[in-house]
Amino acid sequence: MKQMTNIAKSDIRGVYDVVIVGAGFSGTMVAVNVLRAALKPMRILLCDRTSSIGTGLAYSTTDSHHLLNVRADQMGAYPDDVSNFYTWLRNHPEECKKAGVKEVKAGGYIPRLLYGAYLQDILVKTSIDHPELEVANAAIRYVAKHDNLGFELTTDENITIYAKQVVLALGNFPPGNGRLKSKKDNPYSEAVWDELALPGDVLIIGTGLTSLDLVMTLAKRKKQGRIHMISRHGLFPQVHKDSECYISNLTPAELPLTSRELLHLIRAKVKDAEVQGIGWRAVIDSLRPMNQTIWETLSEREQRKFLRFLRPYWDTHRHRCSPEIMEVRDELIAKGKLCVHKGHIVTIEENQEIIDVTYRKAGSTNIEMIRVRQLVSCTGPQSDLRKLNDPLVDNLLVEGLVTQDSLKMGVATDEKYEVIDANGHPTSGIYALGSLLKGRLYESVAVPELRVQALEVARQIISYIETNSNLAIPSLHY
Ligand SMILES: Cc1cc2nc3c(=O)[nH]c(=O)nc-3n(C[C@H](O)[C@H](O)[C@H](O)COP(=O)(O)OP(=O)(O)OC[C@H]3O[C@@H](n4cnc5c(N)ncnc54)[C@H](O)[C@@H]3O)c2cc1C
Repeated sequence: MKQMTNIAKSDIRGVYDVVIVGAGFSGTMVAVNVLRAALKPMRILLCDRTSSIGTGLAYSTTDSHHLLNVRADQMGAYPDDVSNFYTWLRNHPEECKKAGVKEVKAGGYIPRLLYGAYLQDILVKTSIDHPELEVANAAIRYVAKHDNLGFELTTDENITIYAKQVVLALGNFPPGNGRLKSKKDNPYSEAVWDELALPGDVLIIGTGLTSLDLVMTLAKRKKQGRIHMISRHGLFPQVHKDSECYISNLTPAELPLTSRELLHLIRAKVKDAEVQGIGWRAVIDSLRPMNQTIWETLSEREQRKFLRFLRPYWDTHRHRCSPEIMEVRDELIAKGKLCVHKGHIVTIEENQEIIDVTYRKAGSTNIEMIRVRQLVSCTGPQSDLRKLNDPLVDNLLVEGLVTQDSLKMGVATDEKYEVIDANGHPTSGIYALGSLLKGRLYESVAVPELRVQALEVARQIISYIETNSNLAIPSLHY
């Protein structure tokens, strides 16, 4: 597999047409789309604070047991060619073989590391056609706007660069349960895997897709000791199952105005589908093109109700996992190697090599205890910007360049993806996409939505350059 050659930090300097902060799927595909569509060469810097250029957190895993949760023929990086990844897999049999994929099926759930290789391949090919693309390992710590001068950015190594436009593609932030002192919060670090695989019981906080990745890793490493998992609702992602298509035919008049109406609508559609011999999964999938409209139709009060009462059920039905993963989970449960707890953690006490965790069992006042040697947090990302402790986000807030959306799920943006400043106006020339947009768009986390956002942000960038071609950015001398 081809690897990106990263440009050394000292090479970052001068004035860029665009600086893209974050080189996961979103940032990478903004760069690729801009370069594919721009009529004249544009100097673009794509930078990431980690070495995972092009792959981001999700696709830089080295464990081939971590699978995509979207079928191969739907994971293409371009909105107008959704089977592009499937085609790539068929053209790269050697890579597939190395990753343990014997047969590439359109509906298969492929190791995520192959998706990382696909994205890197796209990036490598783009950089060959467009040598003006620069990539770098650099953390951006500070952004300031100068009237008519564009933006000044500073890296964590105090290198200053200038940009006419800035893209914030920061992805998910780490989990936010700061009160849990004794925790590991990077479930994708090989060092964490090694530690967790040591003999002794382990507790995984969370029962979502990330926690299941960890279960797969520990199962593969033949973990000695029990794996405990805990979450408030004890809900796991539902399993994917092939099904016939269902057509929702949702008319504007049918759009739910409350979270209760949304629930009724889904139930009614599921009933209708069942009459036609079609399962609920097809109903959830049929709503996908409408999800954004549905979300934006709900008032903020109703959005809050959705988040409080429906979210865990919606998320576990909407973001499903491959049957292979659930087979491993069920086998471990049957062998008594995996215990799932449902409740609310009350205390965590660490005493030398022992960690005692007490929790209030769901639906009861009983306090139970789990004793383990290791604890790892997979509770989902923190999205309240003020609780992140992220230097870039803190500075953007202090400078008043961005504001938090009212649901505290990310940054406020307008429909052109421009961030909203402290005075409530769009900050012309800074865009955000991906998880940062969850407040406005809710479904803003997976490739099918992100590839559309990446293309739309790229179009905004090109149109901005065309209308602001004479920004008075200082010319620099070295
Ligand atoms: C474990 C996991 C599995 C997933 N599986 C799937 C799947 O199967 N299918 C699917 O469609 N979606 C999946 N997703 C959703 C996934 O989040 C998206 O598909 C996509 O990878 C998100 O890309 P992103 O670029 O928005 O964010 P990320 O991939 O998180 O990239 C953001 C990048 O920004 C960098 N960054 C942040 N701050 C700075 C800074 N100040 N300076 C420089 N760099 C910075 C980070 O280091 C990071 O690399 C999965 C997500 C996770 C976490």
